[in-house]
Amino acid sequence: MTAARASRLRVVVTAGPTREYVDPVRYISNESSGRMGFEIAAEAARRGHRVTLSTGPVVLETPPGVSRVDVVSARDMLAALRRAFRSADVLYMSAAVADWRPARRLSGKWRKKDSGGETARIDLVKNPDILASVARAKGSRVVVGFALETGNGERRAKAKLRRKNLDYVVLNDASALNARRTTVTILGRDGSRKSLKGRPKRDVARVLVDLAAARQG
Ligand code: C5P
Repeated sequence: MTAARASRLRVVVTAGPTREYVDPVRYISNESSGRMGFEIAAEAARRGHRVTLSTGPVVLETPPGVSRVDVVSARDMLAALRRAFRSADVLYMSAAVADWRPARRLSGKWRKKDSGGETARIDLVKNPDILASVARAKGSRVVVGFALETGNGERRAKAKLRRKNLDYVVLNDASALNARRTTVTILGRDGSRKSLKGRPKRDVARVLVDLAAARQG
């Protein structure tokens, strides 16, 4: 057995979308099934690591052996993650965090349509960048981010790797949304580059858990 396999890591995974409520029944969100993050959490737990999964609203079952923390908004997720990150060895940030939230959350239903106007506007304010904020002081933790880009996103993904202080960034495209298979390019801070084409998310999860365990082991 290798040293990497023998060590039991504290692994934190985020998954799913966040929801930013406009009023009690309406929200802004991102398309995300949560599958990639749940596969990573399941794989890490199968290897015997201690796994905390912070997830936005999804319809997936909690994988065996995983401790799950349900959150709704980006700010909820930031608070949950700040706590979990302190004692973590590895973070996989696969959540599709909403970049913006409504400036005000109305306590009653939004009645703009009653005014007869054909257009309406919602003022938005920027959400915190959860990943950048926790990874700033990451120390020896291994931090893996995701970048969903349309078109050739490799340049943008590399910029994120540096800007957000990541060890790896997993570049994928919109075909991964709600799908069981995905095509990804895993870019490392060390200049490494690994492409996986049309692979089940479970296979990608295996590769990602291996990578972090090898770094921490
Ligand atoms: O900048 P972009 O949204 O493409 O970055 C994607 C990565 O950053 C993902 O790992 C995502 O979970 C994370 N992120 C975040 N907080 C945000 C936006 C994105 O943690 N507000």
